[in-house]
Amino acid sequence: MIHLKTREEIELMRESALIVSKTLGMLASEIKPGVTTLYLDKLAETFIRDHGAIPGFLGLYDFPNTLCMSPNAQIVHGIPNDTPLEDGDIISIDCGSLKNGFYGDHAYTFEVGDVDETTKKLLRITKESLYKGIAAFKAGNRVGDVGYAIQNHTEKEGYGVVRELVGHGLGSVMHEDPEMPNYGNRGRGKQFKEGLVVAIEPMINLGTHRIKQLKDGWTILTADGKPSAHFEHDVAIVDGKPELLSTFQYIYKALGITSDEELPFRQIPLVV
Ligand code: MG
Ligand code: MG
Repeated sequence: MIHLKTREEIELMRESALIVSKTLGMLASEIKPGVTTLYLDKLAETFIRDHGAIPGFLGLYDFPNTLCMSPNAQIVHGIPNDTPLEDGDIISIDCGSLKNGFYGDHAYTFEVGDVDETTKKLLRITKESLYKGIAAFKAGNRVGDVGYAIQNHTEKEGYGVVRELVGHGLGSVMHEDPEMPNYGNRGRGKQFKEGLVVAIEPMINLGTHRIKQLKDGWTILTADGKPSAHFEHDVAIVDGKPELLSTFQYIYKALGITSDEELPFRQIPLVV
């Protein structure tokens, strides 16, 4: 069942989303070779609680930590551990928050030290595909329009679009309807209406789209061992158009990057 949100509820959801954005921005300054994902996880848990929220993933479906930490060939749902990050790694960090009864849920794939050009391009194209998907998330369009936009932008590079894991509606429950696959056919699937809030989250592999799962029951990784990227934003339909609730601007500020990629999707100016 789809739960459309009021303007007031969307503003509460923006608060939850921005707590995750700030958490990712804080982590951006900490990510370097030698740091463990468990250390970053503890930093994030403290940061989220200090901002008056609860970690959204901790205990959700019995997940043991605050962050999903998925390096290199891991796609999503990796469990933080005491293995240090190495120069040239990539690390996908997915983070959730719960505040005022609503969840925030967004993700970024970070570079650790010097990353090779092939992997850098995977990250760039995957993030571009996220914004292609967001542009297609507007009233009157359908689930397949978003999936098509992401699939079309990434498959033409020869990348694999993960099939088994999808984006989702977001609200007082972490995973609401509709499911938002990163593949699809234009004009097909459920139609978008005013007040819908979703998490759009392309999971794109350098090689095959096929996946496998570790025996821990959580970690999903590429079947061929090649890297995978994951970028996720929370987006609402406001006045018929996509309105970003989350932002990467805290990450960019920490990393000294300037980007206007989010401007088309923000009706209310953001001060970072
Ligand atoms: Mg997520
Ligand atoms: Mg999600």
